[in-house]
Amino acid sequence: MLVVGAGPAGSIAALVLARAGVRVGVVDRSAFPRDKLCGDTLNPGALSILDRLGIGAAVRQQALPIIGMTVTGPRHAAVTGSYPEDLNGLAILRRDFDGLLLDAAIAAGAELSCGVRVRAPVTECGRVVGVETDEGPVRARVVIAADGRRSTLAFALGLAAFARAPRRWAFGTYFEGVDGLTSRGEMHIRSDGYIGVAPLPGGVTNVCVVRGRGAPWRARTPASIVDDAIGADPDLRERFRRARQVAPLATLGPLAVDARAAGCPGLLLAGDAAGFVDPMTGDGLRFALRGGELAAAAALEEIASGTAAFAALQSARVREFSRKWRINRALRSLVGSPAGISLAATVAARWGAPVEYLIGVAGDCDVARA
Ligand SMILES: Cc1cc2nc3c(=O)[nH]c(=O)nc-3n(C[C@H](O)[C@H](O)[C@H](O)COP(=O)(O)OP(=O)(O)OC[C@H]3O[C@@H](n4cnc5c(N)ncnc54)[C@H](O)[C@@H]3O)c2cc1C
Repeated sequence: MLVVGAGPAGSIAALVLARAGVRVGVVDRSAFPRDKLCGDTLNPGALSILDRLGIGAAVRQQALPIIGMTVTGPRHAAVTGSYPEDLNGLAILRRDFDGLLLDAAIAAGAELSCGVRVRAPVTECGRVVGVETDEGPVRARVVIAADGRRSTLAFALGLAAFARAPRRWAFGTYFEGVDGLTSRGEMHIRSDGYIGVAPLPGGVTNVCVVRGRGAPWRARTPASIVDDAIGADPDLRERFRRARQVAPLATLGPLAVDARAAGCPGLLLAGDAAGFVDPMTGDGLRFALRGGELAAAAALEEIASGTAAFAALQSARVREFSRKWRINRALRSLVGSPAGISLAATVAARWGAPVEYLIGVAGDCDVARA
């Protein structure tokens, strides 16, 4: 069994397979630990998966608890929502988080090859039988593609592609000395995009700016987009007056990826490789962790039955994720339109309950309880 990509989806798939007694190799183009542009928050639903797998305690040790979200909009609209008392999320550097998950997979018996880039799938008679890497071909009975949003394998096989719309880019970096932080994640929705802010251990703050096509080039320089977004924002400017940027800017985009299936004979998709809606809801890691588990279960089924399991995986993903996908797409459309944002801000200014409800939904609090 081969897992391509040692991010959260790949590590969890490898962990589940190795614990089931299967020999599993994991390849990743990066050397670990590695950085990853992300908001660095885990929602309660994601944390409940880690607890179930017995790795929540190790992750908690390197994280800050997150008790809810503050969402702000234009004209100073602001709603603060808390997760139910018995639930919380976490804020943790992806460098640390991904390293912990990978260590757990290796401890379970997965064999890791770092610095190996997968170039293409290898197919025979319409079935994926391995991958071509820059070190030569690797054969496997089943390949799990967990190689992220711009998945080499899913794109090459026509299983996924960048969405035509929306076309948005993310710009992320870290600051020290930000004022007014709490134990909540922050999402500041504006007419030209949004800004996520999250407190991290060690007094560091994660800041991600997401903008539509064209907007990045309205910044003074591409490198100043985060600074410019904060400087132009009356609510955030004051809080960043003393702050110092402590990491280079990372950029990703276009963000949205649509997948038309969860795999094909011999190949199963997990995590962002199986599609990505938008980072605004802060639940990509829950999809990645659960998607890794589902792909591993499908791979075990494929080995046991000798029958391709990609269709069963697709059904499982639809069963588990379709309600959330619908909500996330609706929210993505809302924040994509200045009129939608203005309406939402007006509603939120008078009546915060819908936003508080959505904070719980985005946090996957229902599945954390299940
Ligand atoms: C701006 C932004 C903010 C976000 N904030 C949050 C948040 O706060 N909370 C949350 O839950 N989610 C968030 N997300 C989503 C989250 O980052 C992703 O959903 C998550 O990283 C998906 O994990 P993954 O394992 O599928 O992919 P990745 O984490 O991308 O891992 C893929 C791995 O595959 C490797 N790889 C890629 N191509 C190859 C190749 N050809 N050969 C070998 N290896 C390869 C990469 O090196 C990488 O290690 C955010 C996303 C963005 C863009």
